[in-house]
Amino acid sequence: MLIVDPSYEIQDALDQTSLVVRLEACGRICYKSEEKITLDSAMPFVKKIAEHGHNSVMEMAVVTLGVQCSAEQFDSFLALEPKYFFIDRFEDEILITGSIRAFRELYVRAGEQELVEALVGFLTDGHPYLFEGVWAGGRGLREKSSIQVRKLDLQEVDGLPAALLAQHRFSGVKFVVNRAVTHEIVRHRPCSFLQESQRYCRYSQDKFDNQVTFIRPMFYEEGTEEFTLWQKAMEDTEQIYLQLLESSTPQAARTVLPNSCKTEIIVYCNLAEWKHIFSLRTTQAAEPSMREVMIPLAAEMKERYPAVFV
Ligand SMILES: Cc1cc2nc3c(=O)[nH]c(=O)nc-3n(C[C@H](O)[C@H](O)[C@H](O)COP(=O)(O)OP(=O)(O)OC[C@H]3O[C@@H](n4cnc5c(N)ncnc54)[C@H](O)[C@@H]3O)c2cc1C
Repeated sequence: MLIVDPSYEIQDALDQTSLVVRLEACGRICYKSEEKITLDSAMPFVKKIAEHGHNSVMEMAVVTLGVQCSAEQFDSFLALEPKYFFIDRFEDEILITGSIRAFRELYVRAGEQELVEALVGFLTDGHPYLFEGVWAGGRGLREKSSIQVRKLDLQEVDGLPAALLAQHRFSGVKFVVNRAVTHEIVRHRPCSFLQESQRYCRYSQDKFDNQVTFIRPMFYEEGTEEFTLWQKAMEDTEQIYLQLLESSTPQAARTVLPNSCKTEIIVYCNLAEWKHIFSLRTTQAAEPSMREVMIPLAAEMKERYPAVFV
């Protein structure tokens, strides 16, 4: 067995990639198949994911669109009560931020609405593969309408006033923590999550060094009686897990794995939600293993976005 320390990484580099590259990089965490990423693996991966209905992968990239349209067109859009979007007026535009999944599902539900067609049609022009099976070419409303749509680049989003920045700027963080911590993190409903799957990952494989990895418990110091007891429990569990894998599947064998098991999770949400998470997960009342990663993460986020994390 392997014991590692918990860690986290703000996924800045992914923010600079194309949508499809971002989706693949995040999606592969479930299978721990990052070694399969090549220069042209992203598109087929994402297409397959969309076909299979592994929908949360399609939440891992958001786009901010700037729209100019009439009051009637906007009112009729709002009447749809679009879900999972952030919508604000700014200067002479309406800002609409949503994930690829949110745009796909809005189009399926209300593709006949003029603004919906304009938004999804605009995204389809640049990224047809992300809307395959969903976009049917539109009803020609775009050509006739006066709606103007443009994409804001990240630099523009980063330059928005604090209140809008908090709503429209999304940031992804990859955590390497134990499963007790991820069980708590996933309670934050406005976030999107992707997590290493114990159903798909078989820890007896070479790529996992044929062993189970555990997170060093922050409660017990190495060398103490408690730590020795904990270590023995993990060793025994690993042995039983590996034995079960000889005759059963990972999804069956994983039923013996404990909270201390190492897992990886990507948490993706806007800065407003990160602020809310930090307000709950860095205080004395929060679980100590959670504070162990959230306190330094909150400090890093504050450095990046001082106007939001005051
Ligand atoms: C110290 C601590 C102890 C806890 N103990 C327990 C426990 O013993 N058992 C347990 O089950 N959970 C426990 N929790 C989890 C806690 O109850 C929340 O589920 C979790 O912290 C998510 O936070 P949230 O609900 O404030 O906001 P999020 O889910 O992060 O949502 C963000 C915001 O969106 C809004 N929102 C989202 N969904 C809804 C909704 N359906 N209705 C209305 N508003 C919504 C709210 O304004 C909310 O503040 C604990 C959390 C903490 C921090």
